[in-house]
Amino acid sequence: MLSISVKEILFWKKTQLFKGGDHESLALLLDSVGGISTSDLNSLSINPEGNLYLKKNLEFLENIWNEHLLNSSPIQYLCGITFWRDLKLKVTEKVLIPRSETELIIDIVSKIFGNSVQKLLFAELGTGSGAISISLALANPLWYGIATDIDQDALEIARENFINSSQQSNLKFYCGNWWSPLESFKGKLDLAISNPPYIPKDTYEKLPKEVKNFEPKVALFGGEDGLKHIREIIQKAPLFLKEKGWLILENHFDQGEKVKQLLIENKFTSIEIVKDLSGIGRFTIGRYK
Ligand code: GLN
Repeated sequence: MLSISVKEILFWKKTQLFKGGDHESLALLLDSVGGISTSDLNSLSINPEGNLYLKKNLEFLENIWNEHLLNSSPIQYLCGITFWRDLKLKVTEKVLIPRSETELIIDIVSKIFGNSVQKLLFAELGTGSGAISISLALANPLWYGIATDIDQDALEIARENFINSSQQSNLKFYCGNWWSPLESFKGKLDLAISNPPYIPKDTYEKLPKEVKNFEPKVALFGGEDGLKHIREIIQKAPLFLKEKGWLILENHFDQGEKVKQLLIENKFTSIEIVKDLSGIGRFTIGRYK
């Protein structure tokens, strides 16, 4: 641990931001690698002569910041950490960095089930870092969840994130493509959730380089029209959901109506397009019959 004055840190921050980047990314670096949270810094900034403890020296942090600016590498991958809702999650280039707009999925689920359900079986298809499943399992200790992913390395990260965030054992991790690892849960799920890859081909080609060059294509690319995986998930969902079981999907900003049509064609009811905090129809939900 290195002792450093608040004044010195504030000056260092200003110098880094002058080179480029945003406050949020710098705060993540200082917190996850330096061990200084924004709230520590804010509460101490009234006394600039006061001292803080840094886990790594400023040159070390600056090298990471420079790499972030130079190569457009996401700061979350460089730090190996991201924050999502109240979770601190490990992330590597094997998993998508969970987005803040996706956080709303947890609120949609609590709005549907409230406190009325004691026990429930849910599955998340394509868990990546595990963010959604871990949040649900922690918030609802009586629920039992299965998180799947096609990539074994991603699944290991999700498992590690679950172990690091709790002592609970109500979440299991299965490797495989969409519904295939869930054969033994046919007709048993109360809830299935997925934030599948949904970026259409043309859009994928034009993604900013911090996304396209670093985040896993398998977690983003949804085929020609972006709906390849969403279609497969919806078509097979009736085999796995209980009667009146819910399906909750995240989709691209303009796919809500198309996803709704797919749900109608597959005999779903109570269909709704739910807006994210920017007013975009980001989620489409429905229940099987
Ligand atoms: N929301 C992510 C993005 O825009 C895409 C995630 C996904 O395809 N599921 O980068």
